[in-house]
Amino acid sequence: MTTSNRKRLLSIEQAPPRHWVGNGFPVSSMFSYDTAPSLSPFLLLDYAAPADFLPALAPRGVGEHPHRGFETVTVVYQGEVEHRDSTGNKGRIGPGDVQWMTAAGGIVHEEKHGREFTAKGGTMEMVQLWVNLPAKLKMSPPGYQDIVSPAIPAVTLAADAGTVRVIAGQFEAARGPARTQTPIDLWDMRLEAKKTANFRIPEGHAAALLFLRGGGLVNGADAVDEGDLAVLDRHGEAVSIEAAADSTILVLSGAPIDEPVVGYGPFVMNSEAEIRKAMEDYRSGRMGSL
Ligand code: MN
Repeated sequence: MTTSNRKRLLSIEQAPPRHWVGNGFPVSSMFSYDTAPSLSPFLLLDYAAPADFLPALAPRGVGEHPHRGFETVTVVYQGEVEHRDSTGNKGRIGPGDVQWMTAAGGIVHEEKHGREFTAKGGTMEMVQLWVNLPAKLKMSPPGYQDIVSPAIPAVTLAADAGTVRVIAGQFEAARGPARTQTPIDLWDMRLEAKKTANFRIPEGHAAALLFLRGGGLVNGADAVDEGDLAVLDRHGEAVSIEAAADSTILVLSGAPIDEPVVGYGPFVMNSEAEIRKAMEDYRSGRMGSL
């Protein structure tokens, strides 16, 4: 790997103060499509760092709400999340599991703590990523993929540096189980203290590294701390991470969708008119209900 082919680090984003999503998920929005940096095809990343919940009678979370025009990807690290939607799908995901929901033309769902977690209490830690859809797929039928931990292949890194669980896309010979609408890689990387991971992200892909735990040097020079998001350039391919401590890193990369983005709350479309139509369709029940 030559230095000239490096995927340059553009910025290091620190977690902003947390806000609550419903009454169940205290999150930091690490980036959002309406602010810099642009990470198309990714629209937003909310990180719910570990938070403790006491036992409760009713599940906390977010009640019935719609989405249109994109996908929501929920990665659970600790705790339990339960989902129910207007297409009749439901699922409960726990540590290591992923839920990939394609809202596309419209879906109504709720996201709550799992029943068992609610009763016992415990630590919740999760990531929710919003992935944009190209204009031609924004009004396609909604879909839902429950991806359980055993379905996610794990690759051992060279020199036993750690492992990469391939949720979507490809890492070395392993292919992730998630069906994506555009080229996307989503990897759950665990790196041991003092070890280095050298890997490639496709040329032209937007990419970022979320350090959930640990920290280290990116490309041998830039120090990234726990909780930070490292944003990489679209150009170049080679990336190295030298872990200062045992680290958990979510690696996301994807082919940019260079189309207009107009969003309002739970809807992300290409124009104001489409947003008005989404609000109308939701209000009149055309996105369904639970
Ligand atoms: Mn939602």
